Amino acid sequence: MRQLPRKEVHYGKEVWVNPVTEKIRKHECLCLHCDRLKPAQPDNCKIAQNFYQICVQENVALAVTRCPLFVQK
Ligand code: SF4
Repeated sequence: MRQLPRKEVHYGKEVWVNPVTEKIRKHECLCLHCDRLKPAQPDNCKIAQNFYQICVQENVALAVTRCPLFVQK
Protein backbone atom coordinates (compact mmCIF):
# COMPACT_ATOMS: atom_id res chain seq x y z
CA MET A 1 0.00 0.00 0.00
CA ARG A 2 1.18 3.50 -0.80
CA GLN A 3 -0.48 5.00 2.29
CA LEU A 4 -1.65 3.36 5.49
CA PRO A 5 -5.41 3.07 6.04
CA ARG A 6 -6.91 5.69 8.33
CA LYS A 7 -10.12 5.92 10.32
CA GLU A 8 -12.94 8.22 9.15
CA VAL A 9 -16.63 8.53 9.92
CA HIS A 10 -18.99 7.64 7.06
CA TYR A 11 -22.76 7.39 7.41
CA GLY A 12 -22.44 7.87 11.17
CA LYS A 13 -19.95 5.06 11.77
CA GLU A 14 -16.20 4.90 12.06
CA VAL A 15 -14.63 2.90 9.21
CA TRP A 16 -11.13 2.21 7.93
CA VAL A 17 -10.35 4.00 4.64
CA ASN A 18 -7.66 3.44 2.03
CA PRO A 19 -6.88 7.09 1.17
CA VAL A 20 -5.40 6.28 -2.25
CA THR A 21 -8.29 4.21 -3.61
CA GLU A 22 -10.89 6.39 -1.89
CA LYS A 23 -9.56 9.43 -3.76
CA ILE A 24 -9.93 7.82 -7.21
CA ARG A 25 -13.00 5.65 -6.56
CA LYS A 26 -15.60 7.94 -8.12
CA HIS A 27 -13.43 8.74 -11.14
CA GLU A 28 -12.35 5.18 -11.89
CA CYS A 29 -15.22 2.84 -10.92
CA LEU A 30 -16.63 1.23 -14.09
CA CYS A 31 -20.19 1.37 -12.76
CA LEU A 32 -20.13 5.15 -12.41
CA HIS A 33 -19.33 5.44 -16.13
CA CYS A 34 -21.66 2.69 -17.32
CA ASP A 35 -24.95 3.17 -19.14
CA ARG A 36 -26.45 0.18 -17.31
CA LEU A 37 -26.21 1.91 -13.91
CA LYS A 38 -29.67 3.31 -13.17
CA PRO A 39 -29.93 3.78 -9.40
CA ALA A 40 -33.43 3.48 -7.90
CA GLN A 41 -34.91 2.45 -11.26
CA PRO A 42 -36.45 -0.95 -11.98
CA ASP A 43 -34.06 -1.60 -14.87
CA ASN A 44 -30.91 -0.87 -12.82
CA CYS A 45 -28.05 -3.28 -13.45
CA LYS A 46 -28.56 -6.33 -11.20
CA ILE A 47 -24.85 -6.64 -10.45
CA ALA A 48 -24.61 -2.99 -9.43
CA GLN A 49 -27.75 -3.33 -7.34
CA ASN A 50 -26.18 -6.26 -5.48
CA PHE A 51 -23.01 -4.23 -4.89
CA TYR A 52 -25.11 -1.33 -3.62
CA GLN A 53 -26.97 -3.54 -1.14
CA ILE A 54 -23.71 -4.97 0.21
CA CYS A 55 -22.29 -1.44 0.58
CA VAL A 56 -25.35 -0.26 2.51
CA GLN A 57 -25.57 -3.36 4.72
CA GLU A 58 -21.88 -3.54 5.55
CA ASN A 59 -20.88 0.15 5.33
CA VAL A 60 -18.20 -0.51 2.72
CA ALA A 61 -17.36 1.23 -0.56
CA LEU A 62 -16.38 -0.53 -3.78
CA ALA A 63 -14.79 0.42 -7.08
CA VAL A 64 -15.54 -2.03 -9.89
CA THR A 65 -12.48 -2.61 -12.06
CA ARG A 66 -13.74 -5.52 -14.19
CA CYS A 67 -17.12 -6.32 -15.69
CA PRO A 68 -18.22 -8.33 -18.73
CA LEU A 69 -21.37 -6.21 -19.20
CA PHE A 70 -19.94 -2.68 -19.10
CA VAL A 71 -21.46 -0.21 -21.58
CA GLN A 72 -19.72 3.15 -22.02
CA LYS A 73 -21.99 6.14 -21.35
S1 SF4 B 1 -22.78 -3.66 -16.18
FE1 SF4 B 1 -20.98 -3.85 -14.88
S2 SF4 B 1 -20.01 -1.85 -14.96
FE2 SF4 B 1 -22.09 -1.61 -15.67
S3 SF4 B 1 -23.27 -1.02 -13.88
FE3 SF4 B 1 -23.40 -3.24 -14.08
S4 SF4 B 1 -21.77 -4.05 -12.81
FE4 SF4 B 1 -21.34 -1.89 -13.17
